[in-house]
Amino acid sequence: MKLYSTKGIAPEVDLREAVLSGLPPDNGLYMPVSIPVLPASFLKKLPELSLVEIGFTICRELFGGYIEDAILYDIIQKSMTFPAPLVSVAPDTHILELFHGPSLAFKDFGARFMAQLMAYFNKDEEQELLILVATSGDTGGAVASGFAGVEGINVCILYPSGKVSALQEKQLTTHGGNIKAIEIAGSFDDCQDLVKAAFLDQELQERLNLSSANSINIARLIPQTFYYFEGFKQLTNPNIPVYFSVPSGNFGNLTAGVFAHRMGLPIAGFLGATNRNDVVPDFLQTGVYQPRPSVPTLSNAMDVGNPSNFRRLDDLFCSTWNNFKALIHGFSFSDIDTEGEMRRLFFDKQYLIDPHGAVASLAWTAFLDANMGQTAQGIIIETAHPAKFQEEVERILDQKIELPTSLEKLKSLKKEAFSMDSSFTEFKEFLLNTY
Ligand SMILES: *Cc1c(COP(=O)(O)O)cnc(C)c1O
Repeated sequence: MKLYSTKGIAPEVDLREAVLSGLPPDNGLYMPVSIPVLPASFLKKLPELSLVEIGFTICRELFGGYIEDAILYDIIQKSMTFPAPLVSVAPDTHILELFHGPSLAFKDFGARFMAQLMAYFNKDEEQELLILVATSGDTGGAVASGFAGVEGINVCILYPSGKVSALQEKQLTTHGGNIKAIEIAGSFDDCQDLVKAAFLDQELQERLNLSSANSINIARLIPQTFYYFEGFKQLTNPNIPVYFSVPSGNFGNLTAGVFAHRMGLPIAGFLGATNRNDVVPDFLQTGVYQPRPSVPTLSNAMDVGNPSNFRRLDDLFCSTWNNFKALIHGFSFSDIDTEGEMRRLFFDKQYLIDPHGAVASLAWTAFLDANMGQTAQGIIIETAHPAKFQEEVERILDQKIELPTSLEKLKSLKKEAFSMDSSFTEFKEFLLNTY
């Protein structure tokens, strides 16, 4: 499998290089040179296949023999250890629950697969790998759990102080061992900038074996294609045109959906659902892409002012606004709308949804309203377990909600994190002294 950089300056690399380095040296993003169209027989057989079998078929086609079948199957089996059920709340409205993994968020899919793949690629190396990751909430938890105890790999997680939920913070800061957390006095964008700066720093590059685990790493996106097929396979009537509504921040999830579409999954369109951080919906409306500082919202894992995967989408759509608009419909909602949608689903449909999924649900409702009379069905991607946002959810619904046992246990564990401001000098010093 060959990958190129979206900037087009760095040379093409193989999968190992793309996964271990994370970013190409020209500061672009890696993209597969070709995305294979899966055979029609695969789509026909889909309902009989397990998630692991779906993932194996996709990777086998995509990697083209790059990893031996038995090893590849093992990597996928070790990472896809939980289900992704589709729940219908109306005949035309289905919710794809991607929160059944260990960190209770969809990022488990990408993080676990990446951890297995990196461990495989680094197994014969002498120097340990150091993974740097910035998180606005859920990435860190998924990465921490995906990499915990994985040999030959250290992980350093940066998160914005006071801007992740209490439980999310516990998920980042209680693993110990090869997982370290740094609490940054700043925003998520500050954390992301520190990670980017580290990768561009000559001295750090020479001294440490750096790699990234943000959604910029192609290894995160590959397994995220699996569940588009997994969701589609569970539809009772797959002949009705299907739209995926994707709650979006860095747009990795949606980019993976476009990969799945290119692989031949018959998706009628995507709803790119955002909170007030509406750079992409704005672009879809105006044709002008204008990044701006993120603003804090209820759906905090989507508080991104300059979505890193926009460049991948731009590449997939050949920088043509009309191509974008033909497949992706943009929507943006306020926190007040989001709270209302959480109440509507809970009280009218007896479905407990988290704030991120609620944004996607709003987008689907708005899309249906705007396209009255059209026959269509929607798959709303539910990216996190509502209990991850316990305080907010209980306030909004005015009800106590039950915590899964894994979260209950976390409460008693002690937080361990290093505190820093957002200056690069201090961060660099820390890395050089620690690793
Ligand atoms: C990360 C995250 C998102 C946004 O996903 P992107 O791939 O960055 O667009 C949405 N919801 C939750 C719960 C998340 O953790």
